Amino acid sequence: MKTINLISVDDPAEAHLIKGKLMNAGIDCFLTNENMTTLAPHHNLFLNSGIQIMVMENDLAEALKLIKDKLEPQQETYTCPNCGSQNIALRFGKRKSWKIFYIFIAIMAAMPLGNLKPKYYCNDCNSEI
Ligand SMILES: [Zn+2]
Repeated sequence: MKTINLISVDDPAEAHLIKGKLMNAGIDCFLTNENMTTLAPHHNLFLNSGIQIMVMENDLAEALKLIKDKLEPQQETYTCPNCGSQNIALRFGKRKSWKIFYIFIAIMAAMPLGNLKPKYYCNDCNSEI
């Protein structure tokens, strides 16, 4: 019988939560690549890195139903705590030019780009959320 990579996640805690959920439903599974992902977390699922949750081929359909919320992107709306606006954007800094600056610095310092985490900003009052 074949094992199939159900999903890859970059967080060990999330991987164990999914594993627990599957085991509770009676689906056997195991994690691979956990140690390497813990050592190099900044690779953020680059080239299929990340903790892979493996299930048996005949359990795949039921397992996919259980992790349906992880597979479909969640449409979330955010509200600015300062002005109540919903005009929120995900970006690297308060100004758009910061993104180019950050990428330039990351390349010059040979720093993995995964360390650059964008944050949510309000487009109306320009505050970080
Ligand atoms: Zn605001």
